[in-house]
This record gives sequence, structure tokens and C-alpha cells, in this order.
Amino acid sequence: MAGTAVRGRLTWQVATVAAVSDETDSVRTIALDLPDWPGHQAGQHLDVRLTAEDGYQAERSYSIASANGEPVAITVERLDDGEVSPYLTKELRPGDQMEIRGPIGNWFTWGPDDGGPLLLIAGGSGVVPLRAILRYRQLSGSNVPVRLLYSSRSLEDVIYREELDMYRGTADVRYTLTRRQPPGWGGFVGRVDDAMLGRVAWTASQGPLAFICGPTRFVEAVAELLVARHYPESRVKTERFGGA
Ligand SMILES: Cc1cc2nc3c(=O)[nH]c(=O)nc-3n(C[C@H](O)[C@H](O)[C@H](O)COP(=O)(O)OP(=O)(O)OC[C@H]3O[C@@H](n4cnc5c(N)ncnc54)[C@H](O)[C@@H]3O)c2cc1C
Repeated sequence: MAGTAVRGRLTWQVATVAAVSDETDSVRTIALDLPDWPGHQAGQHLDVRLTAEDGYQAERSYSIASANGEPVAITVERLDDGEVSPYLTKELRPGDQMEIRGPIGNWFTWGPDDGGPLLLIAGGSGVVPLRAILRYRQLSGSNVPVRLLYSSRSLEDVIYREELDMYRGTADVRYTLTRRQPPGWGGFVGRVDDAMLGRVAWTASQGPLAFICGPTRFVEAVAELLVARHYPESRVKTERFGGA
């Protein structure tokens, strides 16, 4: 039975682009029509495979941006010197097809039974799986306390800003802007550091469950800071997107 499930997950299937929508100047959400999707958990990712006319193939991983039970969507940040992300964010149109494999990953996931309090820490597009977790928390009616600390270059680079601001009624949502802040900015400034965590993070004695996602170095630096704050390693879940 487990073998069937694993094979099923690892099979490539054809997805049709249902819709695309711009989140920021360089970030686009792509909604997918996947008739044979087995369902997913908040926090999981999938693989995309593109095949050029000459048969050349490229594969990349993308976190699933939608909650359990919602149609599958991914949110892609364009790296101008990248191979795949410029195509996904500029060329791809509704009706286009690509191959998808997933869902993948059973560690970086959250459901109401996992409890909390939750500490979600994102760098850049690392907010994607954390958005899925926030959405699922909302949809499932969970009242697990949650704090989100989200690091972006500028306010214009904050992905899902309207939606994240909406969670403020039931979640503590904080932004830190590393490069540019609007006049009168009242949020955090600069990279996530220990002093910032001191103002946002739950204390270890509160038994928090942390999810950190973003560029590899960001994730590793924040995870080290939380472990130094006595978070047990088993309660610090990380997802590394690669890059600097
Ligand atoms: C589990 C997982 C989930 C991911 N989820 C997402 C997601 O939800 N949204 C998203 O936009 N990306 C996500 N990524 C990153 C994604 O897989 C690609 O690496 C990214 O889109 C770049 O691909 P590319 O072909 O455009 O660039 P490439 O041609 O592969 O790389 C171009 C240059 O950019 C550098 N680079 C590669 N990846 C990154 C990065 N993440 N940040 C900074 N520099 C980088 C490379 O070192 C290289 O110098 C995820 C990665 C993993 C492993």
C-alpha cells in the first residue's frame, strides 16, 4: 500500500495552467489544473519538469502555495539569470502545459494536530509554504497561536501582502525590510538577527514549533539562532530554496 502511494506520488503528470497572477514585479502565482492530484498537506512541494522542442529538459522544485484541499498553485520568483524561473514568470500562459510530480516532503508540513504555538520565519519567496500553512490554519478553524516574521528587500517585494495583513486579526504578522523602507515605516529593518527574534520568537519554554524557509544561508542562520535560544532541533523545521 505504502509502495503504491510512493510510486503514485513520483509519477509525472501533465498539468494545465489554469491562471496566472502577478504578486509583485518579479513574482507570479500559477494556478494549475491537475486532474489526478492525490491531495497535499500544507508545507509540501512539487517538482516541475519542462521539455524544450529539442528534447532538453529542466526540473525545479516549487512549494505548494495553496492549503490542503484547495486547487494546486505555485508562486515563483524570477531570478533574472535563471534558466526556469524567467520562463515561468514571463512566458507561461493559461492553457499551457507542463509536467508535475508530487506532492513531496512529509517533514516540512503542518496540520492542526501538530499544534503550536507556531513560529513561521520566511526570507523572500520562502513565504510560499508558510502561506499554505497560514491558509490551512485559517481554513481548518485552528486557533493555534502563530507568529510570522517575514524578511523582504522592500515593502513592494512582500509577496501575498494583502492576504498576510488579513491574518493580523488572528496571527501576529511582522515584516522586516532589508534594503528599502517606506517613509514612516514602523516594522523591523534589516536582516533577522537575535535581537529581532528576541522581540518576536516564543520562548523555548512555551514549546513552540518553528518553520523556517528561504534562501539556504538565511535558513541556516535563523535555525542556528533558534537552537541557541534552546529550541530543540526536532522543533525547528527548515526548507532551503538554494542560492545565496
Ligand atoms: C524544496 C524547494 C522548494 C522551492 N520552492 C520555491 C518556491 O516556492 N518559489 C520559488 O520561486 N523558488 C522555489 N525554489 C527554488 C527553485 O527550485 C529554483 O531554484 C528557482 O526558481 C531558480 O531556478 P532557475 O532555473 O530560474 O535558476 P537557475 O538557473 O537554477 O539558477 C540561476 C542562479 O540563481 C541561483 N539560485 C538558484 N536558486 C536560487 C534561489 N532560490 N535564490 C537565490 N538564488 C538562487 C543559482 O545559484 C544560479 O546562480 C524551491 C527550491 C526547493 C529546493
